[in-house]
Amino acid sequence: MAKTYDYDLFVIGAGSGGVRAARLAAMGGARVAVAESYRVGGTCVIRGCVPKKFMVYASEFSHGFDVAEGFGWTVGERSFDWAKFVERKDVEIARLSGIYTTNLEKAGAELFHARAVLKDAHTVELVGKDRTVTADKILIAVGGKVWLPSPDAVPGIEHVITSDDAFHLPHLPKSILIAGGGYIAVEFAGIFAGLGVDTTLVYRGPNILRGFDEDVRTHLADEMEKHGIKIVLGAQHQRIEKTDKGLVNHLTNGLVCTTEQVMFAVGRRAATEGLGLETAGVEVEADGTVKVDRFSQTTAANIWAVGDVTGRMNLTPVAIREAVAFNQTVFHDTPTAFDHDNVPTAVFSQPPIGTVGLTEAEARKKCGKVDIYVTRFRPMKQAFIGGQERMLMKLIVECATDRVVGVHIVGPDAPEMIQMAAIAVKMGATKAQWDQTCALHPTAAEEIVTLREKYVPHELAAAE
Ligand code: NDP
Repeated sequence: MAKTYDYDLFVIGAGSGGVRAARLAAMGGARVAVAESYRVGGTCVIRGCVPKKFMVYASEFSHGFDVAEGFGWTVGERSFDWAKFVERKDVEIARLSGIYTTNLEKAGAELFHARAVLKDAHTVELVGKDRTVTADKILIAVGGKVWLPSPDAVPGIEHVITSDDAFHLPHLPKSILIAGGGYIAVEFAGIFAGLGVDTTLVYRGPNILRGFDEDVRTHLADEMEKHGIKIVLGAQHQRIEKTDKGLVNHLTNGLVCTTEQVMFAVGRRAATEGLGLETAGVEVEADGTVKVDRFSQTTAANIWAVGDVTGRMNLTPVAIREAVAFNQTVFHDTPTAFDHDNVPTAVFSQPPIGTVGLTEAEARKKCGKVDIYVTRFRPMKQAFIGGQERMLMKLIVECATDRVVGVHIVGPDAPEMIQMAAIAVKMGATKAQWDQTCALHPTAAEEIVTLREKYVPHELAAAE
């Protein structure tokens, strides 16, 4: 007789991936339980995308006031009430978290507010609840958590804050130094600078946002500097000293600077520690991410993993799509692998980035000969007020097929534009088809269908 379990599916982690998988399985008739040790909603809703976007909105106003004045408005005294903002943000986050909980319950999934630890491949202990349950299938969707260097590597690291803390600061600092050059570092640099905080970004590499297109990296760094952010490249922390004047940052390039706050945004790690994975036969990579195949199945036959814990592409919509594919594979007998190619992504820096497909460097490697189209211009709102901010748009075309294989935009509304451009890239539209699309005037987006002149990088022009 087949062994019976308490549940058909036990999901560990109620973030974007876990909630979607649990709801779909429960709505399909499976007996589902979910364990969440913190608040329902996960990184995205509680301490990531959503509250970050509210902070971006809040900080963008300072720039908006300048633009308004350029258009003839008189803007009175400007002041920002951080405490009021935080209170409103928390109300909205609580509302969204509540919706996630309600949706789980409506779907018929049972929610445990507890940390879950695997005891074997079918058994889960609910820590602090004095309860152990069994499940036929288990989904690991525990996400990631902030990583910090050890106090040996950076003495004084205990004085820094992370993005988790940035959402709940008791007051806005007068000055901040942000360490890191990835998504979180550049997004928070824009947020703090926009809110009037004297902001310095320190990154160890030659340019921020490693992995993004080179023109995008340079353009954004220039624009961030126009927004008053100081960027220090090729340096990292040696140590941090707490004094009565503030936190003294000693950097490897010899620079010493004192700021009221220091924020480290030097990456996140899969939250797999203490989960009991080894007892269940689930193997992890050296960086702690769970090893999965393209169907999100782990090395244990009845256990799957989706989202940031697998480290494939740490983006909310990707976790959701991996969860949908998991549901199709496991509960609908239709093996489905989410296609991680041409996933659009945005960095909510100021100005923001929207990007989909290959960078120029990747395309040159993968596609051989490519044509590049680039434009840099002042959007009409900026030109009107005599502002100096410029927008970048770049298309990368594979010569052999004429397909547009990469689109990169830096400037206002870039994330909104790239979502639409991603459809064309995913469909494999050719440059000729982009050109056949009539422009919509007057917009900044129209530039993307009116790019005619091929761009030849200096080094290639010299070689020809
Ligand atoms: P990232 O991996 O994007 O960036 C980490 C940064 O820290 C890099 O610049 C890295 O440098 C630097 N770094 C790593 N180790 C050290 C070290 N020991 N000392 C100094 N610097 C170091 O991580 P984030 O934490 O910014 O974001 C995590 C992930 O979350 C992102 O990759 C993204 O997938 C997701 N995310 C998405 C957002 C969005 O969609 N808008 C927003 C925020 C996060 P180097 O490049 O040299 O390795």
